[in-house]
Amino acid sequence: MVLGRTGKSETWFTEYQTDSLSLGLRIHSVLQSKTTGFQELLVVETETYGRLLALDGAVQTTARDEYVYHEMITHVPLFMLDAPKKVAVIGGGDGGAIREILKHPTVEEAHLVEIDAEVVDTARQYFPEISVALGDPRAHVHYADGIEWVKNARDLDVIIVDSTDPVGAAQGLFQAQFYQTIAGALTQDGILVAQSESPFLHQDLIRQMRDGMRTAFSEVRLYCAAIPTYPSGFWSFLMASNHPTAPSARTMGTNIETRYWTPDLQTAAFVLPRFVEELMA
Ligand code: SAM
Repeated sequence: MVLGRTGKSETWFTEYQTDSLSLGLRIHSVLQSKTTGFQELLVVETETYGRLLALDGAVQTTARDEYVYHEMITHVPLFMLDAPKKVAVIGGGDGGAIREILKHPTVEEAHLVEIDAEVVDTARQYFPEISVALGDPRAHVHYADGIEWVKNARDLDVIIVDSTDPVGAAQGLFQAQFYQTIAGALTQDGILVAQSESPFLHQDLIRQMRDGMRTAFSEVRLYCAAIPTYPSGFWSFLMASNHPTAPSARTMGTNIETRYWTPDLQTAAFVLPRFVEELMA
């Protein structure tokens, strides 16, 4: 509770993004606040971005801007392939990535590998529009550590690492060894995409991920999207494969419904500002 500009008492959610930077959102109410076996889980109703899910104090998703992240982490790799059939999401317990993946009619299996069942339960209860596709017969939910699950996985067309920040259980999801295991779980034409945080704030991490992916893949590219509630609002994704990627012919004729991704953005998202280009050099 703080005194707002109106002089009335107000409640704010604050994410301390770095030691010297925070994001504050005035909230109407706290809907859930608990400690799971893995993390602190919080659901609040914000005035500006609607319902918000935070884990260990970090914004994961909000009702109002979630589509940017979920569309860009899924459609960009899936539209590089003519007929993706088998896809896995590591993390991603809110279900938003699965919702987008299942918009592709060729997809037969979409596996969600989430370490914390309470995130999925919370998404089902408080974010029905995000978790909507988890009940689809093509969706398979596994409660497991993604690092272990990937060791036994095979023939995946796309693996998406939709993780929390690199702390706790998610730390290993940013390491070279994990990317090498992923390479063994993909088909020859398979593609890995991982959220790679902010080019403004997390340059060392992006370089570490880039180098880790290069130990297992010949092609590593970066693309960006504007996500207002993530640190700096400017977000990145690393994509890795063992063949050069180009948009599939089906991209231009798609009738998949989106709000951020467009066929032109499929190519344009890889056009980088100079300082980000240099980060990938
Ligand atoms: N879009 C989000 C972001 O960038 O802030 C990430 C969303 S999603 C909720 C992240 C999920 O990764 C969390 O629910 C967390 O429990 C899960 N996670 C963390 N480490 C994991 C691991 N080793 N295996 C599987 N899931 C993991």
